[in-house]
Amino acid sequence: MATITMKFGGTSVGNADAIAQVADIVRTSFDAGHKTVVVCSAMSGVTNMLIESATSAASGDAARYRYLAHQIRDKHETAIRCLFPSDVERINLRDEMDALIEEFETLCYGIYVLRETSLKALDKVASLGERLSVPIVSAMLRQHGVPSTTLSASYLIVTDEQYQSAGVLFEETETNIQQKLVPLLEQGIVPVVTGFIGATRDGVITTLGRGGSDYSGAILGAYTHSDEVWIWTDVDGVMTTDPRMVPDARVIPTLSYGEVGEMAYFGAKVLHSKTVQPLVERNIPIRVKNTFNPSFEGTLITNQDRTTPGTVKAITGIQDISLITVAGRGMIGVPGIAARTFSAVARQNANVLMISQSSSEQSICFVVPQDKSALVVKAIEDELAYELQRQNIDRVWADDSVEIITVVGAGMRNKPGVAARVFGALGEANVNILAIAQGASDYCLSMIVDANDTQAAVRQIHKLVVLNGYQNE
Ligand code: ADP
Ligand code: ASP
Ligand code: MG
Repeated sequence: MATITMKFGGTSVGNADAIAQVADIVRTSFDAGHKTVVVCSAMSGVTNMLIESATSAASGDAARYRYLAHQIRDKHETAIRCLFPSDVERINLRDEMDALIEEFETLCYGIYVLRETSLKALDKVASLGERLSVPIVSAMLRQHGVPSTTLSASYLIVTDEQYQSAGVLFEETETNIQQKLVPLLEQGIVPVVTGFIGATRDGVITTLGRGGSDYSGAILGAYTHSDEVWIWTDVDGVMTTDPRMVPDARVIPTLSYGEVGEMAYFGAKVLHSKTVQPLVERNIPIRVKNTFNPSFEGTLITNQDRTTPGTVKAITGIQDISLITVAGRGMIGVPGIAARTFSAVARQNANVLMISQSSSEQSICFVVPQDKSALVVKAIEDELAYELQRQNIDRVWADDSVEIITVVGAGMRNKPGVAARVFGALGEANVNILAIAQGASDYCLSMIVDANDTQAAVRQIHKLVVLNGYQNE
């Protein structure tokens, strides 16, 4: 008998059929005698609708949030109607749903009256998607004969106050999980927990960042001492590249934590970038599986580096970034410019995704999320005002028309010629590289290319380097 934490993503709970499928999967685990923890996302599209409601309310558009409230209610109501023949269950679920929809409309009305929304209010609104989906999944489990109850992660996951991307306070979270969740498992109950959300010590709701339910699953998996964490999604596993961009992407049967961590960090949407963190030190394996093709093995992620052939196992891309450049001949040999530049960036709370410095020290370039680029440029200009005035630094500027592409694979570490193969593929696709950085882990090589070139670059590297690598090794 094992303990297994299963996280189901938005599409996996996206309609009545999908929820019925989830219930089948969980029942199979429960019937096999496993203690099973279930973590769910919001129904697909709902988090986007919630956020759009709050922002349109802030801009004075009350009709839009009312329309979206109606849509959201309809989506859940349809699922409830299709899944539950019993009037009692339907009435209970509808009452719970209506209370949450009312809370949503009250929040949006407040935002509408004030014509502004704080990050705190946005988190509260965004949390409603998971709070709406979880009761339906839990009731469906009960209907399948599995004893189940819902549990809000706001009672379990304690975070700091960084709304929208809250940091988890691990010790307190572990205590909560041990005290409030583990006893349910001991009693043979399957808890269905809201993904994505947490709460501050004062009980104010926070969220862990978009796509954060994977991370919730990992946290619950770690502190329930699960034997495995299973991420159920809408594709067959972690693939060699984004299957929406490259249709012949293939499933990667095994990956290491390090590899998948780099893939997620550099844009593979299939896992949230923090997912591996709580699991690495406890050595808890992750399986990524398809809810709609459950008998397929999927991807197994462990601490083993080289179980799948292929030096370069995958290629990923990140959009909506900016390349910031600080350049000037007077920078040569002047100590402290980099340190001051990056402290100015840090003060804007901007995450630096990649750094590259020219060897002549005439420029520093680095990548930040696009929505921070104007703030970052201004902060650096202020910090280096004296050097700019003396023309030791010529200019600080942001280029928004770029993307990062990254090749990932633990085998790249000791293998000469990988970069040459990657650059060769880009040459053939006629793609110019604007900047390069090798990750600290040696597991990856990142390049900045013009956004217009990304698709061609990814396809060509996937064809010539990734798929070829699998065939030849
Ligand atoms: P969920 O709602 O289950 O969390 P997401 O939409 O967040 O699902 O992530 C799954 C999606 O990630 C897939 O449908 C796929 O389109 C996309 N994706 C991007 N890159 C990859 C990759 N390398 N491997 C698998 N899926 C990927
Ligand atoms: N529902 C949240 C989102 O859409 C979290 C998740 O799905 O992982 O971002
Ligand atoms: Mg996701």
